[in-house]
Amino acid sequence: MRWAQVAFTEDDPGQFDVSMWLDYFRRIHADAACLSAGGLMAFYPTKIPLHHKSKFLGASDPFGDLTAGCRKLGMNVIARTDPHACTEEAFRAHPEWVARTADAKPRRHWADPARYVTCALGPFNFEFMTAVTREIVKLYQVDGVFSNRWHGHGVCYCESCERLFRQFSGGMDLPRTADHRDAARKKWIQWNQARLFELWELWDKVVREENANACFIPNSGGGALSELDMKRVGERAPILFADRQARRGVMPPWANGRNAKEYRATLGAKPIGGIFSVGVEEPYRWKDSVQSEAEIRAWAHDGIAQGLRPWFTKFNAKPYDKRWMPVVERIYNWHWTHEKYLRNVENLARTAIVYSQNTAHYYGGERARQTVEEPQLGFYQALVESRIPFEMAHEELLDRAHMDRYKVLVLPNVAALSEAQCRQLEDYVDRGGAIVATGETSLYTEWGEARKDFGLAKLFGCSFTGRVEERMQNSYLTLEHGTRHELLRGLAEVPRIINCVRRVEVRPHEAGYRAPLTLVPSYPDLPMEMVYTATPRTNVPGVFCRHHGKGRVVYFPMDIDRTFWEVLSEDHLSVLRNAVEWAAAGRANPLRVQGSGIFDLAYWRQKESLAIHLVNLTNPMTMKGPFRELYPVGPIDVEAELPPAASVRSVKLLESGATVEPFVASGRLRVVVPRVELHEVVAIDLG
Ligand SMILES: [Zn+2]
Repeated sequence: MRWAQVAFTEDDPGQFDVSMWLDYFRRIHADAACLSAGGLMAFYPTKIPLHHKSKFLGASDPFGDLTAGCRKLGMNVIARTDPHACTEEAFRAHPEWVARTADAKPRRHWADPARYVTCALGPFNFEFMTAVTREIVKLYQVDGVFSNRWHGHGVCYCESCERLFRQFSGGMDLPRTADHRDAARKKWIQWNQARLFELWELWDKVVREENANACFIPNSGGGALSELDMKRVGERAPILFADRQARRGVMPPWANGRNAKEYRATLGAKPIGGIFSVGVEEPYRWKDSVQSEAEIRAWAHDGIAQGLRPWFTKFNAKPYDKRWMPVVERIYNWHWTHEKYLRNVENLARTAIVYSQNTAHYYGGERARQTVEEPQLGFYQALVESRIPFEMAHEELLDRAHMDRYKVLVLPNVAALSEAQCRQLEDYVDRGGAIVATGETSLYTEWGEARKDFGLAKLFGCSFTGRVEERMQNSYLTLEHGTRHELLRGLAEVPRIINCVRRVEVRPHEAGYRAPLTLVPSYPDLPMEMVYTATPRTNVPGVFCRHHGKGRVVYFPMDIDRTFWEVLSEDHLSVLRNAVEWAAAGRANPLRVQGSGIFDLAYWRQKESLAIHLVNLTNPMTMKGPFRELYPVGPIDVEAELPPAASVRSVKLLESGATVEPFVASGRLRVVVPRVELHEVVAIDLG
């Protein structure tokens, strides 16, 4: 399924070309459209008082016209609302609609001072926007309502928020600090979520009352740093859209595929749209800009490979620069042509990275980007470079039904885990699973309270001494080749490698434990004459590699994943890859991809076929866009384990169109892909 979004600007009514858009939707085989209807501004003849109409609307109905045109093309239509701001007139009539700052002043819009920021948790959304939502569905019988910026912008200190929070918290005042350790702040995080879920339920009910087949779809969700509990989101939402529009700053193109995995962790097989912008997404918000062709394609295709349904978004129905249009047309036509092999029913990865919203909320707080996100990004990059296809898993879904498909779970500094979650992980390892954990994993409760020892101490084979070394300058890890451990594979002859930066001090449970990596403590790095150490070797473990029950555990008492994200040391990459492979006893990866290049991989099963996706990220702009051009790679040797009882009828390459000769032996398929420009799919029809 392919989506198209046009977000109107106030001056669109009467000035944009409806037939140009409809013709484009037809050419790109769009199945559904998301069109701006109301909220901050109405693009249809609303009858609701203070629902501000575009001043160019007159007697026209651009939302209705485009909706009718889409329907003729057989498309579904969902209406976009945006309730995050209101006019001066609305504020005068309803001062209670507007968000208040900590000193109780009405909050002006940060980018548009003529408007006010609305309170998301009070009467504006619960009453006014409920009426708007109902009117839109009643008038146009749309298939859904998608609301943008519906969930507020930080703590609001209006009268309604003060009162409702006091009721919820048993008498607390709203938090005056962003410190996540503050009791009121913790409570507010819970109340904010509870109130937003209440709002979601209300709008969903109203939508369904007007059209039983429609639903409300919030623009929400994501990974560890997401505001709403993804488990509840996954239970509630029949469909969801990942709104990460393009790259900004240091960000590899696999970040779009990561969205798909984070959402899928709790939505399962439900459809997930991947909203991508065709413009530049840096903080300066050049909304009328256009990205390079290679960049748009790479971003969209990485999402498609990982299971997103493409959704382009364009602001302003009168685009100044139309260079993006043939690019999106090409992506969508590719998607349409090969749709049979994109209707995935099962992901065949055996490795997953666990993400934890509690860790972000209650342990990371304002520093969650560094302490929660960066370790995860480091491990993500390491798995991509290791050519191990993998999924993401949610902290609240560590039960047998969700986890037993995986051979190994990666816990990148997943600090905040409940007792119950720790027991689930222990059971998982007991019955043959494996974990690779780093840093402060399980050293805090789910509420971010420090524990005396790791919740997973039994698995790790060590205990916390109470001390963390925050910054190790010029420190190393000795490779203990005498242990002959597989963790050191590929590093023969190497005496030592660089250490990480932050070390969690631990005491091994087993006296005389011989770790494959041991610590060389920090020593001077200047003046040069002093750069030597009197302690070239210790027996302090830099890693714990253990058997437990039927499974295995690797624990790094350090931030090796975060350091990898910062430094990208090839030695750390080897150690991280070896850790995952050893923990899973060689079963972490159903694929073996050989040949030069960096690939984001995915391995999927459809009803009667398999698809191996190779997204070529080899580019001087891999870590920071935009791509200028694509650099083809090949030949690539692909070997895949086939699911039990699968019999291969034929194999073709979707991008090149070639049929290839498969070689199948003992449950493994081998093919050679001569060339990958951006995205090649080895499509395997099963007989
Ligand atoms: Zn409020």
